[in-house]
Amino acid sequence: MTHGLLVVFSAPSGCGKSTVINEVMKLKENEYKYSLSATTRLPRGSERNGEHYIFLTESEFLRLREENEFLEWAVVHGNLYGTPRTPIEKSITNNEIVLLDIDVQGGLEVKKQLKEKAFLIFLAPPSLPALEERLRKRQTDSDEVIQKRLLAVPAELAKADEYDVVVVNDDLKKTVEQVLQTIERKINEQ
Ligand code: 5GP
Repeated sequence: MTHGLLVVFSAPSGCGKSTVINEVMKLKENEYKYSLSATTRLPRGSERNGEHYIFLTESEFLRLREENEFLEWAVVHGNLYGTPRTPIEKSITNNEIVLLDIDVQGGLEVKKQLKEKAFLIFLAPPSLPALEERLRKRQTDSDEVIQKRLLAVPAELAKADEYDVVVVNDDLKKTVEQVLQTIERKINEQ
């Protein structure tokens, strides 16, 4: 039995999930690892290949999928996303704690495959109007993309009770503290 753990973070877009994960990683940079996903979406703003995502063409992605190189994959907001399998399997064998930022379909698939080795954290918005305001403030997406993301929210929230923990992200500092506590508790229970 190894002590490796996959900590999955999911949230409706605009919940501040990347900020929470970045803060957790800053505090635990020597203890936790971050799993880079592959995607066919184009890089936004300052995003770099190999730093934020592994950016692939659709044919590259489909070839890797064919070769069973993804632990899970999903279509999210019209683009393909996948979790590379080999680094995750190595990390678990090496007793590492790995953080994943993936959508609810991916999170539930990871749980199905890895059972007790997966710990699912759902970040919820304080309210829907607060979420819409954050999406608009971020100014990275067009109105059309924002509408698409808001339309996906009810289905995402409906999956929250299948997660191990739900944390409402109202205050960044408190959220990060709560997330760290729940992860540490889970690690100690293993
Ligand atoms: P974004 O394009 O805004 O970075 O991410 C859009 C959504 O895709 C987010 O909910 C993010 O968690 C999800 N996502 C990122 N990587 C993966 C992955 O490897 N698998 C799945 N299923 N979802 C992912």
